[in-house]
Amino acid sequence: MYTTIEETINALKTAKTTSTALVQYSIENFEKDKGSEKPLNAFLEIYDDALALAGDADKKIQDAIKAGNVDSLFEKYPLLGIPFANKDNISVKGKKLTCSSKILQGYKAPYNATVINRLKDAGAIPLCRCNQDEFAMGSSTEYSVYGPTRNPINRDYVSGGSSGGSCAAVSANQALFALGTETGGSVRLPASYCGVYGFKPTYGVLSRWGVVAYGSSLDQVGIVAHNPKDIAKSLSVMSGVDFYDDTSSDLTDFQKLRDLKSQDVSKLKIAVPKQFEHAKGMDKDVAKVFEDVKSWFLSKGAKIEVVDLPILDASIASYYVIALSEAASNLSRFDGIRYGNRVDEGGGYDKLYIDTRSQGFGEEVKRRIIIGNYVLSEQFSGQTYKKGMSVRARIQREVAKLFESYDLILCPTCPTPSFKLGEKVDDPLAMYLSDLFTTFVNLARIPSISVPAGFTSKESSSPLMPVGIQFIGKMFDELKVLQTAQAWEEEHKGCGVPVKE
Ligand code: GLN
Repeated sequence: MYTTIEETINALKTAKTTSTALVQYSIENFEKDKGSEKPLNAFLEIYDDALALAGDADKKIQDAIKAGNVDSLFEKYPLLGIPFANKDNISVKGKKLTCSSKILQGYKAPYNATVINRLKDAGAIPLCRCNQDEFAMGSSTEYSVYGPTRNPINRDYVSGGSSGGSCAAVSANQALFALGTETGGSVRLPASYCGVYGFKPTYGVLSRWGVVAYGSSLDQVGIVAHNPKDIAKSLSVMSGVDFYDDTSSDLTDFQKLRDLKSQDVSKLKIAVPKQFEHAKGMDKDVAKVFEDVKSWFLSKGAKIEVVDLPILDASIASYYVIALSEAASNLSRFDGIRYGNRVDEGGGYDKLYIDTRSQGFGEEVKRRIIIGNYVLSEQFSGQTYKKGMSVRARIQREVAKLFESYDLILCPTCPTPSFKLGEKVDDPLAMYLSDLFTTFVNLARIPSISVPAGFTSKESSSPLMPVGIQFIGKMFDELKVLQTAQAWEEEHKGCGVPVKE
């Protein structure tokens, strides 16, 4: 089994493997795991046409090998024959799209999301649908109608959320790379818990067309992989202005992303927000890994300065006010008339609407709709929502100002490593605090990658659990963020999950 896109493409070009064999491997892996004592539950289904699409890709590759022009074939289709895992809230035409919710059971996507179209245009193969927290609300993938996704490193622990299925799948080598979505950290957090790279681009770099909305002003598609190069390559084929998404925008560094080099770290000036250095609730193993990463940057000659940004203390509060208000509006479309499941006992429209939503949404989603509508209700809208928005504007302003003097912000991805299944599921506040270090990135619309940076100590857990650290850049500086991650990767291979055959 190959673990990176680069080595897989080399193997495809030299006929050492085939796309069919890659898909077959994932199917076997999935089937074997399904029958195990503690199944991972990362994949919800393998798409029924994945093998056929792989066969088409193999035919193209074999013909090109015979004709001696396989390199130019891969120039044209940079991800030809590469299967990828997809999250259950990104549309693939004709396939189930349920956001891991009962309310959408049986619903099938009528069209492809733009990111799916672009990956397909580059030759990649949609492999499977991955588990997630219902409507991407959560930090552990325990709020899924399909049950939780377990952490591949210790199956009694959570994979993180909401893109837990996508991250567990990559971590367990069930997929080479995966799509997730982010509203407040949902790719970076599970990537950190599962020991893989998880990237969230600048707001707008990836089209949201065909992605089920949670908090539209924060939502972005994110990418999970075993290395920054793979993320950069898939980003390069997916990004760019989309006619169907007015908030979409171009990245200028296509070629450099496609062939990612590592950053000269010695020239970097890095800011560490004081608010995140000694945050309440920060686990001591996470603090230790953070120190190690800082030492690495310093040893390379980078400059690190502690900066004071008190507004960051308000990011969680601002995030939950904005995200939940937008969620309450976005989820009002699930009314039993237009989408998915309908509960109609003949009592009229109001009853249909109430029964459908009461029976279709899970507890956490209902809690958020109630809070969101409360915040938006007439008596509060002038206060809480506007306050949330003005805090966000300040975060954006102050973070942008910081980037006038610094190249990157450095901070842990989460205050703690992965925790035991069930530990926080009945304590929403504790769950929300997992997002302490991630939400300001979405509020500020900037790019960030969670890098597998180390492990918990022997005293804390066995096996050791991975810890992620974030490299965060200014808007549209994805290249620097990814190049710095690549510099890290080149010196720390194996710092993530040990890759098994
Ligand atoms: N955990 C955060 C939440 O529950 C973030 C979710 C996400 O990024 N989709 O809202």
